[in-house]
Amino acid sequence: MEGYVDNNLFTEYNPIIKDKTIVINFYGCNFNCPFCYAQQFHEFKSESIIEIREIKQELRRIYFNAKYVLFTGGEPTLQRIVLNNLARFSKSLELETFIHTNGSKPNVIKDLIENNLIDGVILDIKSPFESKIFEEITKSSNFFVSSNKIMDEVKKSIDVLRDNRDKVKIFVTTPILPGMNFDEETLDQIYEIIKYLRVPWILMRFKKKSDFGEVKDKVLLSYEKPNNEELKEIILKINKANIPFKII
Ligand code: SF4
Repeated sequence: MEGYVDNNLFTEYNPIIKDKTIVINFYGCNFNCPFCYAQQFHEFKSESIIEIREIKQELRRIYFNAKYVLFTGGEPTLQRIVLNNLARFSKSLELETFIHTNGSKPNVIKDLIENNLIDGVILDIKSPFESKIFEEITKSSNFFVSSNKIMDEVKKSIDVLRDNRDKVKIFVTTPILPGMNFDEETLDQIYEIIKYLRVPWILMRFKKKSDFGEVKDKVLLSYEKPNNEELKEIILKINKANIPFKII
């Protein structure tokens, strides 16, 4: 079996999972978020195709050094068969499996949960469900799929997770984007979604670059990181149901 997967597996302390985690990056994403600093994983390029047995060999070599494996990228749920296969293999090594997803493939998430292939889901909720701002933040619509359709899919993922809260660990991540979602009204709308799920909310401070690339959007690049205190103040003001939150 072949797939679009990065063969540079690495182990790191993951601040959301809070333990040593092997990271497996999938290539290809159906969103085009202007703040994305994982640009190198955006596209399905022919040179990124690899035999999945090579990923497994590498995983077998390093698995003893971690408790978790995280499938991320890019958007791992776009390669359903490869993801299921690697999750099953990871479970056979007694690793606990997590995916980090934009939530656009509810059926893939449901399938992973129903087949006991996943122990945790990190779901990105970057925007309220309002097409104008959702499109501005995710740049995900195209000739074939509208923002409304994509938002409907993310809502279905939220329902899948809510129905399976007892079976998997769930975290919601929101990248804080100056000029896009970093204001009380917008964060309050996102908070209403988190409140419905009742899971920990991880607020990720905007980063201009990572080991995997740089933000390309010039307007975003001109902003400074949000001030932690200001952000905390807003969250405490809107968080009336006392949802646990963390700023990383
Ligand atoms: S969904 Fe994630 S990987 Fe895809 S473009 Fe947005 S930030 Fe990047």
